[in-house]
Amino acid sequence: MRQLVGNLREGVYVTDLDGRILDANAAFLEMFGVASLEEMKRYNAYDLFVDPEQRTRQLDVLIRQGAVRQFEIQIRRPDGEIRTMMDASTTVRDPDSDEVVFHGILVDITDRTRSEEELSRTLSLLSATLDSTADGILVVDGDGRIATYNRRFVEMWRIPDEIVASRDDSRALAYVLDQLQDPEGFVRKVRELYAAPEAESHDELLFKDGRVFERYSMPQRIGGRSVGRVWSFRDVTKRKAAEQQLVHGAYHDALTNLPNRSLFTDLLSRSIGRAQRRESYAYAVLFLDIDRFKVVNDSLGHLVGDQLLVAMARRLERCVRPGDTVARLGGDEFTILLDDIDAVSDATRIADRIRRELRVPFSLGGQEVFSSASIGIALSATGYERPDDLLRDADLAMYRAKALGKGRYEVFDTEMHARAVALLQLETDLRRAVERDEFCVFYQPVVSLRTGRPIGFEALARWQHPQRGLVLPDEFIPVAEETGLIVPIDRRVLREACRQLGEWQAGFATEPPLTMSVNLSAKQLLQPDLVDQIARCLDATGLAPERLRLEVTESAIIDHAEPALAMLGRLRALGVRLDLDDFGTGYCSLSYLHRFDMDTLKIDRSFVSNIGDRGQNSEIVRTIVSLARNLEMAVIAEGVETAEQLALVRSLDCEQMQGFLFAEPLPAGAAAAMITAKARW
Ligand code: C2E
Ligand code: MG
Ligand code: MG
Repeated sequence: MRQLVGNLREGVYVTDLDGRILDANAAFLEMFGVASLEEMKRYNAYDLFVDPEQRTRQLDVLIRQGAVRQFEIQIRRPDGEIRTMMDASTTVRDPDSDEVVFHGILVDITDRTRSEEELSRTLSLLSATLDSTADGILVVDGDGRIATYNRRFVEMWRIPDEIVASRDDSRALAYVLDQLQDPEGFVRKVRELYAAPEAESHDELLFKDGRVFERYSMPQRIGGRSVGRVWSFRDVTKRKAAEQQLVHGAYHDALTNLPNRSLFTDLLSRSIGRAQRRESYAYAVLFLDIDRFKVVNDSLGHLVGDQLLVAMARRLERCVRPGDTVARLGGDEFTILLDDIDAVSDATRIADRIRRELRVPFSLGGQEVFSSASIGIALSATGYERPDDLLRDADLAMYRAKALGKGRYEVFDTEMHARAVALLQLETDLRRAVERDEFCVFYQPVVSLRTGRPIGFEALARWQHPQRGLVLPDEFIPVAEETGLIVPIDRRVLREACRQLGEWQAGFATEPPLTMSVNLSAKQLLQPDLVDQIARCLDATGLAPERLRLEVTESAIIDHAEPALAMLGRLRALGVRLDLDDFGTGYCSLSYLHRFDMDTLKIDRSFVSNIGDRGQNSEIVRTIVSLARNLEMAVIAEGVETAEQLALVRSLDCEQMQGFLFAEPLPAGAAAAMITAKARW
C-alpha cells in the first residue's frame, strides 16, 4: 500500500490535530519543493496556509463534518512560492495511538486556475466586444439553433426579446423574413450555407422599409471542425444612400434633377453605337435654349430664374415619350435625346409640342412669366461618330433658330455647317487682322438740322481685308464681340479717331468745334482701364473732353447693368458726352433709361428707313422724340436716306441726323474735304 501511495501523482499526507506532518508521499514532497520527509516534518501544515482564516474554516468543517471535499486553499511553500491546491481530507482515528489524525489528498491546481482565469477574461472580453460592436451578431449551432447573439442583433432586426430568448430559430426566422424584400433569396442563401458548412459569404439584404444590411457569414470552428455558423449584420442604409447620392449627383443637375451633360453624352454615345450597328435605328438630338432668359434673371431675380429652369424641365419631360431623355446641359440650355424615331417628322413634332407647351405662361413667385425657346435639331442620318459633333450641330441649328426670330426650331443641314466653317475662318482671319492692324476708320458726318452743316463725325471701323477688300462692321463686329477681339479694335478706333479730330482741329478750326463719336462695345465698356485709355487719348491730342461722344447701345448696358452703369458714371465724371445708340432695338425698360443719364438718343435707322411708306413708324419716331424731350436728351435720327424722311424728322423737331442723304461714311481725306468745302445740306 505504501508503494502504491508512493506512486500516486496526488500529494497524500497525514497530520495530527495540531498540524504536525506525520507522513507524506513523494508527490506531496515534490509539491512543496522539499527533498525529504524528515525535512517536511519540520514544518507545521497550518503555518503553510497563506490565509490563517482559510485554515480555521477548513478545520471547522473537518471537525464538524469529519471530512472536506474539494476545498480550495492557498499554500505558501517553504521556498516562498504560492500555489493553489485542492484539498480533500478526512478525520481518522489512529488505531495504534487512538489519536485523531487527518488523512488528506492534495492536487496542485495552480496552472488550471490560471488558465481558467484567462479563459474567463477572454470570455468577458468577447462578450463585451460582442455587445459593444455596431454589428448585429448571431451564432447558430450545427443543428441550426440559436447559440448566441448580441444586443445589437436584436435591435437591428427588431425581434421581440421573448422570441430570441426562446432560442427557437423558426420563430425568429419568420420574423426576419417578414421584413425583407426578397425572403426567398434569404432562405436560399441560408440553405446553401448549411449545405456547405465551410463556406464563407458576403451579400446585401434589402428591407421592405428601405434599409440595407450587409450580411457576412463564417463557419464557427473548434479544432478545425465547423460546429456552427456566425452571422454578422451591418446596417449600411446611410452609407448606401450617400453613395447613391454621390453617383446620382455626378450624373444629374442639382437644380432640375435632370441628367447632366456627362450622363447625356453617355446615353448619346450608346445611341450612336446602336445606329452604327443597326441600319434601321434612328435618333435625334434637340438642343434647346430659353429665349431672353437673361432678362428674366436680371429683372425678376435669380430665384425666379431658377424656378423657371425647374418648371421648364418639368414641361419638357411632359413633351417626350418614356424612352427619351431630357437633360440640362448648363445655364438655360437643355438637350433632348429622342430614341428610336421613324422619321424627321417625329423630331419636329416633339419640337412643335414643346412650342405649344410653352405658350402657357409660367406662374413663378406669384407672377406670370412668358417664355419661349429656340430649338435646334440634329438627326442621326448624318452618320455621326461622336456625341460632341451632334451637340455642336444641334447647337448650330439652335443658333439659326434664334437668328431667324427665336421661339422656333431649325433642323441642322450641311449648309449650316458650311456657314459655321466660314465663321471659324472669319475668326481666324480677324485674329490675324488684329495682329497686323488691318483696320482703318471711316467718318460719317453728323449733321445739324438747324444749320444743315456737319457738327461732327462718327468714327466707323472698316477692315481692309487683304483678299476681300473693305469689309463692313456688320460682318465682323459680332464675331469680334464674341471672341473679345473687339477690345483691341475699339481701342485702335478710339485712338485713331481722337488723333484725327486733333489733326482736323489744328488744320481748320470750325465754330462750334467739331465733335467725334466713337462706338463702344459692351466688352470695351467693362474694361477697367477704359477711363485711363480715354484720358490718355484726350491728353495726347489736346481735345476738350466734351468733344468726344461715346456711343453705347442699350443692350451693352442691360447685359451688365451694375458695372456698366458704374462705368458710365466714371466716364461722365471725365466730362465726355454719352450717346445711346440704336435706340429702340434693345429691351430697354423706361425706368432704366432714366438711370443711364445720357446726353443724346440715337433713333435706330430701322425706324427712320420706313417712315415714308406707312404712317406707323413715324408715330414711333414721334414717341421717341417726345420721350427724349421729357428726359432732357437731344435726338439724332440715324439712316436718313430720302428727302421725305428728312422732312419728317425735321418736322418732329430732331436736332441732328446722320444718313446717306447727306453723306456715307468716308475715308479721312474725303471727310476733311467736306469740312474745308464748308459743305452744307
Ligand atoms: P451704328 O453705330 O449705328 O453706325 C451707323 C451705321 O449706319 C453705319 O454702319 C453707317 O454706315 C450706317 N448708316 C448711316 N447712314 C445710313 C443710311 O442713310 N442708310 C443706311 N442703310 N445705313 C446708314 P456701319 O459703318 O456698317 O456700322 C455698323 C455698326 O457697326 C455700327 O452701327 C456700330 O454699331 C458698329 N460699329 C462700327 N464701327 C465700330 C467700332 O469701331 N466699334 C464698335 N464697337 N462698333 C462699331
Ligand atoms: Mg454708332
Ligand atoms: Mg446706330
